Amino acid sequence: MNRQRALVTGGAGFLGSHLCDALLADGYSVIAVDNLLTGNLSNFDHLRNDSRFEFQQIDINQPFDCGAVDYVFHFACPASPVDYTVHGIATLRVGSIGTFHALDIARKYGAKYFVSSTSECYGDPLQHPQKETYWGNVNPIGPRSVYDESKRFTEAVTMAYHRYYKVDTRIVRIFNTYGPRMQLNDGRVIPNFMKQALRGEDLTVYGDGGQTRSFCYVSDEIEGFLRLSKSAEHFPVNIGNPTEFTILECAKRVLALTGSSSKIRYEALPPDDPKLRCPDITKARTLLGWEPKTDLETGLRLSLDYFRKAAQV
Ligand code: UDP
Repeated sequence: MNRQRALVTGGAGFLGSHLCDALLADGYSVIAVDNLLTGNLSNFDHLRNDSRFEFQQIDINQPFDCGAVDYVFHFACPASPVDYTVHGIATLRVGSIGTFHALDIARKYGAKYFVSSTSECYGDPLQHPQKETYWGNVNPIGPRSVYDESKRFTEAVTMAYHRYYKVDTRIVRIFNTYGPRMQLNDGRVIPNFMKQALRGEDLTVYGDGGQTRSFCYVSDEIEGFLRLSKSAEHFPVNIGNPTEFTILECAKRVLALTGSSSKIRYEALPPDDPKLRCPDITKARTLLGWEPKTDLETGLRLSLDYFRKAAQV
């Protein structure tokens, strides 16, 4: 029985809260911290009576200490393009100052450390699909740079703590992930399309909808995190679904699944929006024996009840 104590920063967020569930199921006791900038306490409703779970509202950009832990999972960061554009400075702070603080906790207690990075490190990629060895094509001063450069710095400081202080670190590069508990209004494509389809509003396709993304269902993604957390790999590992869709195809899938008669409306493409994105998951397959099991149609179906309820409020 695993009786270790894990700290999850950003624990009230979409991925953070699913990670808390998975760690509890794996036998950890969990302390989740979050400043609730984009996280939501309702993600913990089902954990109220679990004595192995604790939540503290903490802004990790201030020095903090919740006592000894065996594992630090650093997931605090606004993650949707709408959220990180609105909260640009907070995004840069948490990727830099907050990351130092999370790493300092791991160093102080000799804890293992796992950080959420992103496919945005590859920017608007010139290599396709993206391998971990690709250094990316990032605009350092564009509107997405508050997120992209924040996460690239997060990776740099994590590798530095590993190299200089021997902290036992892991870095996951997360590709587009979806499922229950995504905030309906966070602006990401799947919540937007689901909300619009379920409310009978036009689906807003940006640009001509020919840009691609590869969507991973949340339970597959979390399984990848757990496997990586138990591995000895210090360099970044892509975890995502390698099946690629155009955004227009994605809109059509959502319309078919929901049976909605909503129309498609084309709107301007946001600046620096990556044209292609698809993970090369050879490393995760060989190193972790991991690959996603849930295709887009199944994952959307599994998410439908959640989005239906959320869209009614
Ligand atoms: N997108 C869209 N309509 C929307 C929201 C997003 O066409 O209502 C597009 C967006 O321009 C991007 C893709 O869908 O090309 C994925 O956007 P998202 O915000 O989910 O995340 P990203 O992958 O860009 O970080």
